Amino acid sequence: MSATIDAACRGLGEDLPGLVSLPGDNRYAAATSIWAKQVGVAPGAVVHCRTAGDVQDAIRAARERGLPMSVRGGGHDWAGRALCDGAVIDLCGMRRVALSADRRSASIAGGAGAADVIAVTDPQGLAVVAGSVSSVGIAGLTLGGGYGPLIGRFGLALDNMLAAEIVLADGRIVQADNESNADLFWALRGGGGNFGVVTAMRHRVHELPSVHSGMLVYPFSETRAVLERCSALMASAPEELTVQHTLMADPGGAVMVLIIPTWSGRPEEGEARLQPFARLGTLLAGGIELKSYGALLGMFDPYIASGLQTVMDSCWLPALDRDAIDVFIHAMENAVSPGCAIITHEFRGAASRVAEAATAFGLRRDHLLVEILASFPDRSNASDWPRHLHWTRSTRERFASALPGGYPNFLGKDELDRARQSYGGNAKRLMEIKRRYDPDDVFRSAIPLPRSA
Ligand SMILES: Cc1cc2nc3c(=O)[nH]c(=O)nc-3n(C[C@H](O)[C@H](O)[C@H](O)COP(=O)(O)OP(=O)(O)OC[C@H]3O[C@@H](n4cnc5c(N)ncnc54)[C@H](O)[C@@H]3O)c2cc1C
Repeated sequence: MSATIDAACRGLGEDLPGLVSLPGDNRYAAATSIWAKQVGVAPGAVVHCRTAGDVQDAIRAARERGLPMSVRGGGHDWAGRALCDGAVIDLCGMRRVALSADRRSASIAGGAGAADVIAVTDPQGLAVVAGSVSSVGIAGLTLGGGYGPLIGRFGLALDNMLAAEIVLADGRIVQADNESNADLFWALRGGGGNFGVVTAMRHRVHELPSVHSGMLVYPFSETRAVLERCSALMASAPEELTVQHTLMADPGGAVMVLIIPTWSGRPEEGEARLQPFARLGTLLAGGIELKSYGALLGMFDPYIASGLQTVMDSCWLPALDRDAIDVFIHAMENAVSPGCAIITHEFRGAASRVAEAATAFGLRRDHLLVEILASFPDRSNASDWPRHLHWTRSTRERFASALPGGYPNFLGKDELDRARQSYGGNAKRLMEIKRRYDPDDVFRSAIPLPRSA
């Protein structure tokens, strides 16, 4: 950290008494420990915000002192965008979730994670559309997209956001919805944290007392047959049915294939709808169960380790076809460590029916999002980073049918060209709105936006 930034960060502590922690403090350590361990990024200060007013003060003070800023929500961005070499606006103290009186919407504070929402909705048999795991921040997930097991029935998380309260780069607090600041609301649904700090959102709430789901484990040697049969089942599946595929190593290092189907339709149909997924090959473990939506999102928790070095690449595929399955198999046969994994997320049904121009999110057709993930403990071995990077990149490049662009939340910091392709026909409007609301690019630590249409 430069001496100038160091001095400015200490000054921030005087500007915002009681809100700022510096390196060496416990509060600083907690806020800067994020899912993907960062190397070489050293925030000079963390501003622990509890209200929209705190966020407003933090933005104004950091800008006056010329400090770069980043926003820390749930801390689950793979590229560590929550941290920067300047001031981190920490929203961990803003996690309140409250149901409306009619139970049709929920107000969700900017730092709340899916687990905070589930704690309120699950006991009532209700659900807010989230991703596949409970630890991810709802704002970070929603602003970039939000693929999850309810996507076929209810759409992306961002399709379920009804309004947002946001602190802009100039420190103003504004509301954004279809009536007020409608252009900003449009951009927030897909453009990530590029427009300001979202301090609260209102999301649609759905009646969902239970789902049927389960993690079905098959041997890697049967990958082709299992995935082809799974794909055939999904070809005629109703929108209430979604499936995730994961290829990863078990604790002993052997690669396994996980099939995770979810039925969110009428409970009495769930067992019959999902049983065929338990007969795709030689089932090694797992079964289908009736569970709450919260229990479904908690299912992945034991598999999610924090604080590892992480390299990720990703792409959008039109479908899980024979060629894609070949690439999955080749990638896992050539995995460079037990931390290599492939995870898919479906996009279909309600999400595909939204018009492309209705929100900033650029790809509104059925597709499969493929996450190519490599995690390893540390960089003590200098070759670890480049060989994992090579594995993820070369795997992506093997998918001959990949669609242009990729899921904005999974793009790397410098992937501006892919970002432009991701937003497609929405890129130009998104850039104009960015220039209007954040002309100095104060929120540049967010996911990459196109620079030219
Ligand atoms: C284990 C794991 C599982 C995942 N599963 C899914 C999944 O199933 N579906 C899916 O779509 N994605 C998934 N993701 C990706 C995830 O949605 C994004 O990485 C998301 O940005 C994480 O949000 P966060 O608040 O936890 O992250 P953070 O690292 O805290 O934030 C990342 C960035 O998001 C922006 N941001 C966060 N909160 C705010 C806010 N309140 N206001 C303004 N900007 C904000 C900021 O630019 C911030 O730097 C997963 C990621 C991980 C690590």
